[in-house]
Amino acid sequence: MDNQVKYLLPESDLPRQWYNIVPDLPAPPPPPLHPGTREPVGPDDLAPLFPAALIMQEVSQESYIPIPEPVRDVYRLWRPTPLFRARRLERDLGTPARIYYKYEGVSPAGSHKPNTAVPQAYYNAAEGVRKLTTETGAGQWGTSLAFAGALFGIDVEVWMVRSSYDQKPYRKMLMETYGATVHASPSPITQAGRAILDASPDSTGSLGIAISEAVEVAATNPDTRYALGSVLNHVLMHQTVIGEEAIKQLAQAGETPDVIVGCTGGGSNFGGLVFPFLREKLAGRMDPVIRAVEPAACPSFTRGTYAYDFGDTAGLTPLLKMHTLGHEFVPDPIHAGGLRYHGMSPLLSHIYELGMIEAVAKPQSECFAAGLRFARTEGIVPAPEPTHAVAACIEEALRCKETGEEKVILTALCGHGLLDLQAYGDYLAGQMQDLELSGDAIAEALRGLPAGV
Ligand SMILES: *Cc1c(COP(=O)(O)O)cnc(C)c1O
Repeated sequence: MDNQVKYLLPESDLPRQWYNIVPDLPAPPPPPLHPGTREPVGPDDLAPLFPAALIMQEVSQESYIPIPEPVRDVYRLWRPTPLFRARRLERDLGTPARIYYKYEGVSPAGSHKPNTAVPQAYYNAAEGVRKLTTETGAGQWGTSLAFAGALFGIDVEVWMVRSSYDQKPYRKMLMETYGATVHASPSPITQAGRAILDASPDSTGSLGIAISEAVEVAATNPDTRYALGSVLNHVLMHQTVIGEEAIKQLAQAGETPDVIVGCTGGGSNFGGLVFPFLREKLAGRMDPVIRAVEPAACPSFTRGTYAYDFGDTAGLTPLLKMHTLGHEFVPDPIHAGGLRYHGMSPLLSHIYELGMIEAVAKPQSECFAAGLRFARTEGIVPAPEPTHAVAACIEEALRCKETGEEKVILTALCGHGLLDLQAYGDYLAGQMQDLELSGDAIAEALRGLPAGV
Protein backbone atom coordinates (compact mmCIF):
# COMPACT_ATOMS: atom_id res chain seq x y z
CA MET A 1 0.00 0.00 0.00
CA ASP A 2 2.94 2.29 0.65
CA ASN A 3 3.50 2.89 -3.05
CA GLN A 4 -0.14 3.41 -3.91
CA VAL A 5 -0.60 5.98 -6.68
CA LYS A 6 -4.25 5.62 -7.66
CA TYR A 7 -7.35 6.02 -5.49
CA LEU A 8 -10.56 4.77 -7.08
CA LEU A 9 -14.10 4.93 -5.76
CA PRO A 10 -16.75 2.25 -6.39
CA GLU A 11 -19.69 3.30 -8.57
CA SER A 12 -21.83 3.35 -5.44
CA ASP A 13 -19.83 6.42 -4.35
CA LEU A 14 -20.92 8.41 -7.40
CA PRO A 15 -22.40 11.58 -5.81
CA ARG A 16 -26.20 11.71 -5.53
CA GLN A 17 -26.38 15.47 -5.04
CA TRP A 18 -24.60 18.66 -5.97
CA TYR A 19 -23.40 20.97 -3.20
CA ASN A 20 -24.52 24.60 -3.16
CA ILE A 21 -22.11 26.67 -1.05
CA VAL A 22 -24.26 29.83 -1.01
CA PRO A 23 -26.29 29.12 2.19
CA ASP A 24 -23.07 28.29 4.07
CA LEU A 25 -21.37 31.62 3.33
CA PRO A 26 -21.06 34.27 6.06
CA ALA A 27 -22.64 36.86 3.70
CA PRO A 28 -24.81 36.44 0.59
CA PRO A 29 -23.26 37.24 -2.82
CA PRO A 30 -24.52 40.45 -4.52
CA PRO A 31 -27.33 39.69 -7.04
CA PRO A 32 -27.05 40.03 -10.83
CA LEU A 33 -28.68 43.25 -12.09
CA HIS A 34 -30.86 43.93 -15.11
CA PRO A 35 -28.76 45.95 -17.58
CA GLY A 36 -31.64 48.40 -18.22
CA THR A 37 -33.35 48.90 -14.86
CA ARG A 38 -30.28 48.10 -12.70
CA GLU A 39 -32.67 46.15 -10.43
CA PRO A 40 -31.89 42.56 -9.40
CA VAL A 41 -32.86 40.21 -12.26
CA GLY A 42 -35.84 37.95 -11.72
CA PRO A 43 -36.47 34.48 -13.17
CA ASP A 44 -38.55 36.04 -16.00
CA ASP A 45 -35.58 38.08 -17.20
CA LEU A 46 -33.52 34.92 -17.61
CA ALA A 47 -36.24 32.76 -19.17
CA PRO A 48 -35.29 33.58 -22.81
CA LEU A 49 -31.81 32.20 -22.13
CA PHE A 50 -32.11 29.33 -19.65
CA PRO A 51 -34.61 26.59 -18.75
CA ALA A 52 -36.57 27.09 -15.50
CA ALA A 53 -34.80 24.27 -13.67
CA LEU A 54 -31.39 25.89 -14.16
CA ILE A 55 -32.69 29.36 -13.22
CA MET A 56 -33.99 27.86 -9.96
CA GLN A 57 -30.57 26.30 -9.31
CA GLU A 58 -28.88 29.61 -10.08
CA VAL A 59 -30.73 31.35 -7.21
CA SER A 60 -31.17 28.33 -4.94
CA GLN A 61 -30.77 28.60 -1.17
CA GLU A 62 -30.80 24.80 -0.73
CA SER A 63 -27.51 23.29 0.39
CA TYR A 64 -27.95 20.19 -1.77
CA ILE A 65 -29.69 19.56 -5.09
CA PRO A 66 -30.40 15.95 -6.11
CA ILE A 67 -28.69 14.84 -9.33
CA PRO A 68 -31.37 13.41 -11.68
CA GLU A 69 -30.94 9.68 -12.40
CA PRO A 70 -30.57 10.16 -16.20
CA VAL A 71 -27.66 12.52 -15.48
CA ARG A 72 -26.04 10.07 -13.05
CA ASP A 73 -26.47 7.42 -15.74
CA VAL A 74 -24.33 9.45 -18.12
CA TYR A 75 -21.84 10.41 -15.37
CA ARG A 76 -21.28 6.66 -14.90
CA LEU A 77 -19.51 6.56 -18.28
CA TRP A 78 -16.43 8.11 -16.63
CA ARG A 79 -17.21 8.88 -12.97
CA PRO A 80 -16.07 8.52 -10.26
CA THR A 81 -12.78 9.80 -11.68
CA PRO A 82 -9.42 8.69 -10.26
CA LEU A 83 -7.34 10.57 -7.70
CA PHE A 84 -3.62 10.08 -8.25
CA ARG A 85 -0.67 10.65 -5.99
CA ALA A 86 2.12 12.22 -8.08
CA ARG A 87 4.93 10.13 -6.59
CA ARG A 88 7.23 10.40 -9.59
CA LEU A 89 6.82 14.15 -9.79
CA GLU A 90 7.50 14.40 -6.03
CA ARG A 91 10.67 12.33 -6.45
CA ASP A 92 11.78 14.42 -9.43
CA LEU A 93 11.31 17.59 -7.36
CA GLY A 94 12.97 16.07 -4.30
CA THR A 95 10.16 17.43 -2.16
CA PRO A 96 8.86 16.08 1.14
CA ALA A 97 5.39 17.35 0.08
CA ARG A 98 2.76 14.85 -1.04
CA ILE A 99 1.00 15.91 -4.24
CA TYR A 100 -2.43 14.57 -5.23
CA TYR A 101 -4.33 15.30 -8.41
CA LYS A 102 -7.94 14.60 -9.29
CA TYR A 103 -7.94 13.67 -12.97
CA GLU A 104 -10.93 14.90 -14.99
CA GLY A 105 -9.36 14.15 -18.38
CA VAL A 106 -10.97 10.69 -18.41
CA SER A 107 -14.32 12.13 -19.57
CA PRO A 108 -15.30 11.58 -23.24
CA ALA A 109 -14.51 15.24 -24.02
CA GLY A 110 -11.21 15.12 -22.12
CA SER A 111 -12.02 17.66 -19.40
CA HIS A 112 -14.28 18.46 -16.44
CA LYS A 113 -16.76 20.33 -18.67
CA PRO A 114 -19.16 17.39 -19.30
CA ASN A 115 -19.96 17.46 -15.55
CA THR A 116 -22.16 20.48 -16.30
CA ALA A 117 -22.80 20.01 -20.04
CA VAL A 118 -24.72 16.80 -19.33
CA PRO A 119 -27.16 18.25 -16.76
CA GLN A 120 -27.58 21.41 -18.84
CA ALA A 121 -28.54 19.39 -21.92
CA TYR A 122 -30.78 17.17 -19.78
CA TYR A 123 -32.78 20.05 -18.23
CA ASN A 124 -33.13 21.83 -21.59
CA ALA A 125 -34.35 18.65 -23.28
CA ALA A 126 -36.79 18.04 -20.42
CA GLU A 127 -38.32 21.50 -21.06
CA GLY A 128 -38.65 20.96 -24.82
CA VAL A 129 -35.71 23.05 -26.03
CA ARG A 130 -34.59 22.05 -29.55
CA LYS A 131 -31.31 23.90 -29.90
CA LEU A 132 -28.54 25.22 -27.62
CA THR A 133 -26.11 27.96 -28.59
CA THR A 134 -22.82 28.51 -26.84
CA GLU A 135 -19.30 29.88 -27.06
CA THR A 136 -16.07 27.99 -26.71
CA GLY A 137 -12.53 29.17 -26.05
CA ALA A 138 -10.10 26.28 -26.31
CA GLY A 139 -12.87 24.05 -27.62
CA GLN A 140 -13.34 21.99 -24.47
CA TRP A 141 -16.73 23.45 -23.61
CA GLY A 142 -18.04 23.27 -27.17
CA THR A 143 -16.94 19.63 -27.34
CA SER A 144 -18.62 18.84 -24.04
CA LEU A 145 -21.91 20.46 -24.98
CA ALA A 146 -21.82 18.81 -28.42
CA PHE A 147 -21.38 15.42 -26.70
CA ALA A 148 -24.17 16.11 -24.20
CA GLY A 149 -26.48 17.47 -26.91
CA ALA A 150 -25.99 14.29 -28.93
CA LEU A 151 -27.04 12.15 -25.96
CA PHE A 152 -30.21 14.16 -25.24
CA GLY A 153 -31.26 14.94 -28.84
CA ILE A 154 -30.51 18.68 -28.87
CA ASP A 155 -28.87 20.59 -31.75
CA VAL A 156 -25.76 22.50 -30.66
CA GLU A 157 -24.39 25.61 -32.39
CA VAL A 158 -20.99 26.84 -31.21
CA TRP A 159 -19.14 30.15 -31.63
CA MET A 160 -15.47 29.31 -31.29
CA VAL A 161 -12.97 32.08 -30.51
CA ARG A 162 -11.09 32.81 -33.74
CA SER A 163 -7.59 32.31 -32.28
CA SER A 164 -8.52 28.80 -31.07
CA TYR A 165 -10.44 28.01 -34.26
CA ASP A 166 -7.21 28.58 -36.18
CA GLN A 167 -4.92 26.88 -33.62
CA LYS A 168 -7.10 23.84 -32.87
CA PRO A 169 -8.69 22.36 -35.98
CA TYR A 170 -9.12 18.96 -34.30
CA ARG A 171 -11.38 20.47 -31.64
CA LYS A 172 -13.65 21.74 -34.40
CA MET A 173 -13.67 18.30 -36.01
CA LEU A 174 -14.48 16.68 -32.68
CA MET A 175 -17.45 19.02 -32.14
CA GLU A 176 -18.67 18.22 -35.65
CA THR A 177 -18.18 14.52 -34.98
CA TYR A 178 -20.64 14.88 -32.11
CA GLY A 179 -23.01 16.64 -34.52
CA ALA A 180 -22.52 20.31 -33.61
CA THR A 181 -22.26 23.30 -35.98
CA VAL A 182 -19.17 25.46 -35.41
CA HIS A 183 -18.55 29.11 -36.39
CA ALA A 184 -15.36 31.12 -35.94
CA SER A 185 -16.06 34.13 -33.69
CA PRO A 186 -16.37 37.03 -34.45
CA SER A 187 -18.69 35.76 -37.21
CA PRO A 188 -20.61 37.68 -39.88
CA ILE A 189 -23.87 35.95 -38.93
CA THR A 190 -24.70 37.97 -35.81
CA GLN A 191 -25.04 41.70 -35.18
CA ALA A 192 -22.51 41.50 -32.36
CA GLY A 193 -19.99 39.69 -34.58
CA ARG A 194 -20.46 42.08 -37.51
CA ALA A 195 -19.91 45.10 -35.26
CA ILE A 196 -16.56 43.70 -34.11
CA LEU A 197 -15.49 42.71 -37.64
CA ASP A 198 -16.34 46.18 -38.97
CA ALA A 199 -14.11 47.78 -36.34
CA SER A 200 -11.29 45.19 -36.47
CA PRO A 201 -11.44 42.71 -39.40
CA ASP A 202 -8.45 40.76 -38.00
CA SER A 203 -9.91 40.31 -34.51
CA THR A 204 -8.60 37.13 -32.82
CA GLY A 205 -11.85 37.07 -30.87
CA SER A 206 -12.44 36.54 -27.19
CA LEU A 207 -14.80 34.58 -24.99
CA GLY A 208 -16.70 37.82 -24.32
CA ILE A 209 -17.36 38.34 -28.03
CA ALA A 210 -18.34 34.71 -28.62
CA ILE A 211 -20.78 34.87 -25.68
CA SER A 212 -22.44 37.95 -27.23
CA GLU A 213 -22.97 36.03 -30.49
CA ALA A 214 -24.39 32.92 -28.84
CA VAL A 215 -26.65 34.94 -26.50
CA GLU A 216 -27.95 37.03 -29.38
CA VAL A 217 -29.02 33.95 -31.35
CA ALA A 218 -30.65 32.30 -28.31
CA ALA A 219 -32.52 35.47 -27.29
CA THR A 220 -34.01 35.90 -30.76
CA ASN A 221 -35.16 32.29 -31.36
CA PRO A 222 -37.99 30.88 -29.22
CA ASP A 223 -36.98 27.19 -29.39
CA THR A 224 -33.33 28.01 -28.66
CA ARG A 225 -31.61 28.51 -25.32
CA TYR A 226 -28.09 29.40 -24.35
CA ALA A 227 -25.63 27.34 -22.29
CA LEU A 228 -22.62 28.69 -20.42
CA GLY A 229 -19.70 26.44 -19.50
CA SER A 230 -18.41 28.37 -16.50
CA VAL A 231 -18.92 31.52 -14.35
CA LEU A 232 -22.53 30.98 -13.21
CA ASN A 233 -23.58 29.51 -9.85
CA HIS A 234 -25.35 26.46 -11.32
CA VAL A 235 -22.28 25.58 -13.39
CA LEU A 236 -19.93 25.67 -10.40
CA MET A 237 -22.48 23.67 -8.43
CA HIS A 238 -22.59 20.89 -11.05
CA GLN A 239 -18.80 20.69 -10.83
CA THR A 240 -18.86 19.95 -7.07
CA VAL A 241 -18.91 16.23 -7.94
CA ILE A 242 -15.12 16.72 -8.33
CA GLY A 243 -14.58 17.91 -4.76
CA GLU A 244 -17.08 15.50 -3.19
CA GLU A 245 -15.29 12.51 -4.73
CA ALA A 246 -11.86 13.94 -3.86
CA ILE A 247 -12.82 14.26 -0.18
CA LYS A 248 -13.61 10.55 -0.05
CA GLN A 249 -10.47 9.61 -1.98
CA LEU A 250 -8.14 11.67 0.22
CA ALA A 251 -9.75 10.04 3.25
CA GLN A 252 -8.98 6.66 1.63
CA ALA A 253 -5.35 7.81 1.39
CA GLY A 254 -5.51 8.87 5.05
CA GLU A 255 -4.77 12.50 4.17
CA THR A 256 -6.10 15.98 4.90
CA PRO A 257 -5.11 18.72 2.43
CA ASP A 258 -2.90 21.61 3.55
CA VAL A 259 -2.93 23.44 0.22
CA ILE A 260 -5.46 23.21 -2.61
CA VAL A 261 -4.60 24.89 -5.92
CA GLY A 262 -6.52 25.09 -9.17
CA CYS A 263 -6.57 27.02 -12.43
CA THR A 264 -9.26 29.63 -12.96
CA GLY A 265 -10.73 30.86 -16.23
CA GLY A 266 -14.34 31.46 -15.22
CA GLY A 267 -13.81 29.41 -12.07
CA SER A 268 -15.78 26.20 -12.62
CA ASN A 269 -13.19 23.46 -12.15
CA PHE A 270 -11.69 25.38 -9.24
CA GLY A 271 -15.07 26.01 -7.59
CA GLY A 272 -16.06 22.40 -8.19
CA LEU A 273 -12.92 21.13 -6.52
CA VAL A 274 -12.76 23.55 -3.60
CA PHE A 275 -16.38 24.24 -2.53
CA PRO A 276 -16.85 20.91 -0.73
CA PHE A 277 -13.47 21.47 0.99
CA LEU A 278 -14.54 25.02 1.94
CA ARG A 279 -17.65 23.49 3.52
CA GLU A 280 -15.39 21.27 5.60
CA LYS A 281 -13.17 24.23 6.45
CA LEU A 282 -16.14 26.39 7.51
CA ALA A 283 -17.28 23.51 9.73
CA GLY A 284 -13.83 23.40 11.35
CA ARG A 285 -12.98 19.90 10.10
CA MET A 286 -9.89 20.95 8.09
CA ASP A 287 -7.98 24.14 7.38
CA PRO A 288 -6.41 24.10 3.91
CA VAL A 289 -5.01 27.19 2.18
CA ILE A 290 -6.96 27.54 -1.07
CA ARG A 291 -5.26 29.20 -4.02
CA ALA A 292 -6.55 30.11 -7.50
CA VAL A 293 -4.03 30.29 -10.36
CA GLU A 294 -4.75 32.50 -13.34
CA PRO A 295 -2.75 33.45 -16.46
CA ALA A 296 -0.62 36.59 -16.23
CA ALA A 297 -2.14 37.57 -19.61
CA CYS A 298 -5.69 37.60 -18.19
CA PRO A 299 -5.39 38.30 -14.45
CA SER A 300 -8.95 39.10 -13.33
CA PHE A 301 -8.38 38.21 -9.65
CA THR A 302 -4.95 39.74 -9.16
CA ARG A 303 -5.11 42.84 -11.37
CA GLY A 304 -8.82 43.27 -12.14
CA THR A 305 -11.32 45.23 -10.12
CA TYR A 306 -14.38 44.03 -8.16
CA ALA A 307 -17.30 45.72 -9.87
CA TYR A 308 -20.56 45.18 -11.75
CA ASP A 309 -19.76 44.36 -15.38
CA PHE A 310 -21.26 42.60 -18.36
CA GLY A 311 -20.48 38.93 -18.90
CA ASP A 312 -20.03 39.54 -22.63
CA THR A 313 -18.46 42.13 -24.90
CA ALA A 314 -21.61 43.52 -26.52
CA GLY A 315 -23.33 44.11 -23.17
CA LEU A 316 -26.28 41.73 -23.68
CA THR A 317 -26.02 39.81 -20.39
CA PRO A 318 -27.14 40.84 -16.91
CA LEU A 319 -24.61 42.86 -14.89
CA LEU A 320 -22.56 40.59 -12.66
CA LYS A 321 -20.59 41.76 -9.64
CA MET A 322 -17.24 40.10 -10.22
CA HIS A 323 -13.51 40.48 -10.53
CA THR A 324 -13.13 41.83 -14.03
CA LEU A 325 -10.68 43.37 -16.45
CA GLY A 326 -13.58 45.09 -18.21
CA HIS A 327 -15.87 43.48 -20.81
CA GLU A 328 -13.97 45.26 -23.60
CA PHE A 329 -10.68 43.62 -22.57
CA VAL A 330 -9.29 41.31 -25.28
CA PRO A 331 -6.47 39.18 -23.84
CA ASP A 332 -3.45 38.15 -25.88
CA PRO A 333 -4.03 34.86 -27.70
CA ILE A 334 -2.23 32.67 -25.14
CA HIS A 335 -2.45 28.90 -25.54
CA ALA A 336 -4.66 28.41 -22.49
CA GLY A 337 -7.71 29.59 -24.44
CA GLY A 338 -10.01 28.38 -21.67
CA LEU A 339 -8.52 30.97 -19.31
CA ARG A 340 -9.02 33.96 -21.64
CA TYR A 341 -12.10 35.42 -19.98
CA HIS A 342 -12.29 39.05 -18.83
CA GLY A 343 -14.33 38.25 -15.73
CA MET A 344 -14.52 35.66 -12.96
CA SER A 345 -17.35 33.72 -11.38
CA PRO A 346 -19.32 36.21 -9.20
CA LEU A 347 -19.59 33.56 -6.49
CA LEU A 348 -15.83 32.96 -6.41
CA SER A 349 -15.19 36.71 -6.61
CA HIS A 350 -17.38 37.17 -3.53
CA ILE A 351 -15.59 34.34 -1.72
CA TYR A 352 -12.26 35.97 -2.61
CA GLU A 353 -13.52 39.29 -1.23
CA LEU A 354 -14.47 37.47 1.98
CA GLY A 355 -10.82 36.42 2.26
CA MET A 356 -11.60 32.70 2.03
CA ILE A 357 -9.30 32.04 -0.96
CA GLU A 358 -6.12 33.57 -2.39
CA ALA A 359 -4.94 34.03 -5.99
CA VAL A 360 -1.71 34.15 -8.00
CA ALA A 361 -0.98 34.79 -11.70
CA LYS A 362 1.55 32.85 -13.80
CA PRO A 363 3.13 33.48 -17.23
CA GLN A 364 2.54 30.73 -19.79
CA SER A 365 6.20 29.73 -20.26
CA GLU A 366 6.48 28.78 -16.57
CA CYS A 367 3.24 26.82 -16.95
CA PHE A 368 4.39 24.88 -20.01
CA ALA A 369 7.71 24.08 -18.33
CA ALA A 370 5.61 22.63 -15.49
CA GLY A 371 3.38 20.79 -17.97
CA LEU A 372 6.41 19.17 -19.59
CA ARG A 373 7.84 18.12 -16.24
CA PHE A 374 4.48 16.65 -15.30
CA ALA A 375 4.18 14.74 -18.61
CA ARG A 376 7.70 13.34 -18.24
CA THR A 377 7.09 12.08 -14.71
CA GLU A 378 3.37 11.29 -14.45
CA GLY A 379 2.76 10.46 -18.10
CA ILE A 380 -0.39 12.53 -18.60
CA VAL A 381 -0.03 15.59 -20.86
CA PRO A 382 -1.98 18.36 -19.10
CA ALA A 383 -4.17 20.74 -21.10
CA PRO A 384 -2.63 24.24 -21.23
CA GLU A 385 -5.12 25.49 -18.60
CA PRO A 386 -4.21 23.06 -15.80
CA THR A 387 -0.49 23.57 -16.46
CA HIS A 388 -1.16 26.73 -14.40
CA ALA A 389 -2.29 24.57 -11.50
CA VAL A 390 0.66 22.21 -11.97
CA ALA A 391 3.07 25.17 -11.93
CA ALA A 392 1.58 26.33 -8.63
CA CYS A 393 1.83 22.78 -7.19
CA ILE A 394 5.49 22.63 -8.16
CA GLU A 395 6.13 26.07 -6.65
CA GLU A 396 4.54 24.98 -3.37
CA ALA A 397 6.36 21.63 -3.38
CA LEU A 398 9.71 23.37 -3.91
CA ARG A 399 8.92 25.72 -1.01
CA CYS A 400 8.34 22.60 1.10
CA LYS A 401 11.73 21.31 -0.03
CA GLU A 402 13.35 24.42 1.45
CA THR A 403 11.41 24.39 4.71
CA GLY A 404 11.22 20.61 5.09
CA GLU A 405 7.43 20.77 5.50
CA GLU A 406 5.53 17.61 4.54
CA LYS A 407 2.49 19.40 3.19
CA VAL A 408 -0.35 17.63 1.40
CA ILE A 409 -1.07 19.46 -1.87
CA LEU A 410 -4.21 18.79 -3.89
CA THR A 411 -5.12 19.97 -7.38
CA ALA A 412 -7.48 19.16 -10.21
CA LEU A 413 -5.86 18.07 -13.44
CA CYS A 414 -9.01 19.24 -15.19
CA GLY A 415 -8.17 18.11 -18.72
CA HIS A 416 -5.63 16.43 -20.96
CA GLY A 417 -3.72 18.25 -23.67
CA LEU A 418 -3.80 15.73 -26.49
CA LEU A 419 -5.67 18.17 -28.72
CA ASP A 420 -3.43 21.05 -27.64
CA LEU A 421 -0.15 19.68 -28.89
CA GLN A 422 0.51 22.68 -31.12
CA ALA A 423 1.06 24.64 -27.91
CA TYR A 424 3.61 22.09 -26.67
CA GLY A 425 5.21 22.13 -30.12
CA ASP A 426 5.59 25.91 -29.95
CA TYR A 427 7.06 25.67 -26.47
CA LEU A 428 9.53 22.96 -27.50
CA ALA A 429 10.55 25.00 -30.55
CA GLY A 430 11.33 27.96 -28.28
CA GLN A 431 8.52 29.97 -29.83
CA MET A 432 6.43 30.70 -26.79
CA GLN A 433 6.38 34.30 -25.65
CA ASP A 434 5.32 35.88 -22.39
CA LEU A 435 3.89 39.22 -23.39
CA GLU A 436 3.92 41.82 -20.65
CA LEU A 437 0.41 43.06 -19.88
CA SER A 438 0.68 46.79 -19.22
CA GLY A 439 -1.20 48.57 -16.47
CA ASP A 440 -2.34 51.04 -19.13
CA ALA A 441 -4.06 48.30 -21.14
CA ILE A 442 -6.00 47.24 -18.03
CA ALA A 443 -6.85 50.82 -17.05
CA GLU A 444 -8.06 51.46 -20.60
CA ALA A 445 -10.37 48.42 -20.57
CA LEU A 446 -11.67 49.30 -17.10
CA ARG A 447 -12.77 52.70 -18.38
CA GLY A 448 -15.43 50.75 -20.31
CA LEU A 449 -17.11 49.46 -17.13
CA PRO A 450 -20.81 50.33 -17.01
CA ALA A 451 -21.37 53.56 -15.07
CA GLY A 452 -23.72 54.07 -12.18
CA VAL A 453 -23.58 50.63 -10.52
C1 LIG B 1 -12.64 25.45 -19.79
C2 LIG B 1 -11.48 24.93 -19.12
C3 LIG B 1 -10.86 25.64 -18.09
C4 LIG B 1 -11.29 26.99 -17.64
O1 LIG B 1 -12.60 27.07 -17.15
P1 LIG B 1 -12.95 27.03 -15.61
O2 LIG B 1 -14.40 27.31 -15.61
O3 LIG B 1 -12.16 28.10 -14.93
O4 LIG B 1 -12.63 25.68 -15.11
C5 LIG B 1 -9.77 25.07 -17.46
N1 LIG B 1 -9.31 23.87 -17.84
C6 LIG B 1 -9.87 23.15 -18.82
C7 LIG B 1 -9.28 21.83 -19.18
C8 LIG B 1 -10.97 23.66 -19.49
O5 LIG B 1 -11.53 22.94 -20.46
